[in-house]
Amino acid sequence: MKRVLSGIQPSGQLHIGNYFGMMSRMIQYQEENELFCFIVDYHALTTINDRKKLESNTLNAAIDFLALGLDPQKVIFWIQSDVPQVTELTWLLSTVTNMGLLERATSYKDKTIRGIAANAGLFNYPILMAADILCFGGDIVPVGKDQKQHLEITRDIAQRFNNIYGDVFVIPEADINKSSQLIPGIDGQKMSKSYGNDIPIFDDEKKIQKRIMSITTDSTPIDEPKDKNTPLFQLYSLFLDEKGKQELRDRFDEPGLKYGEVKKELAETVLEYFHPYRDKREELSKNLDYVKQVLKEGAAKAAAEADTYLNEARRAMGLNYSG
Ligand code: ATP
Ligand code: MG
Repeated sequence: MKRVLSGIQPSGQLHIGNYFGMMSRMIQYQEENELFCFIVDYHALTTINDRKKLESNTLNAAIDFLALGLDPQKVIFWIQSDVPQVTELTWLLSTVTNMGLLERATSYKDKTIRGIAANAGLFNYPILMAADILCFGGDIVPVGKDQKQHLEITRDIAQRFNNIYGDVFVIPEADINKSSQLIPGIDGQKMSKSYGNDIPIFDDEKKIQKRIMSITTDSTPIDEPKDKNTPLFQLYSLFLDEKGKQELRDRFDEPGLKYGEVKKELAETVLEYFHPYRDKREELSKNLDYVKQVLKEGAAKAAAEADTYLNEARRAMGLNYSG
């Protein structure tokens, strides 16, 4: 049985890019695999330094995941900082990580260009991510396309470590949904929690509608065919089957299409799609003790696993004086 593992940052509200890029596949994987899923609050510290915000985002992310169907009976689910072993492993791994690898990371460049402070944590993020994966022996890591490069960095670090110190780590594989492109935000850039261009899964319905109504469109006249390589088309396609996509293509090709109408339809579709999970979310948010208990039990199981890999790495590196 393969071990499937992935994390998500509580750097804002979870959005439909996260859902289609990672969450929905994680939820599917729980049926036939050993699943490790965690909320990566250490990572979120690279962009958030407001304690209250981080705390509420973290719990909300956990609630979202459970509401959408993550089953604590089948999954080890925890908050990253409850298993601090990963930070020690981060240091160990940083000593076998070439600077060039980090300097080539495009996510760091994208974020700093967007005005996010260039702190050392943000730069070192790929090493913490490598530790997140290697500390638990993950075989398969479901991620969105934007994380492809980080997964390559993880593999590189693991291989380098194993070459120097012997076979300690499993070399993980990225699992990127081939059919899905990077999901655009309402401005056409990558949808991101930290870019303010996202469509949240569970916000107030009016706010979600408003976001969708402000998706950027071009100024093609009504009586001309419309460009399909646009965020409105791509976002709507996420919710359609093959037949629905073909119909949408035809409507974009046909003169007369009004963007405002398509946006309204998309808003209805998004709200309807996630509607069945709203009640469950509501129930969970009134039952925080239960949510915290799930996370606590998950952390205990995850810590036991992390200790195994961390101790092996320490031994391999000559850091085991006390036995
Ligand atoms: P941040 O802006 O703080 O980096 P984010 O929205 O990029 O937040 P992450 O927590 O970094 O979200 O990523 C969680 C998962 O969601 C990852 O597997 C990532 O690949 C996936 N993901 C994030 N954004 C997208 C997107 N626009 N399209 C597809 N997958 C995405
Ligand atoms: Mg991200």
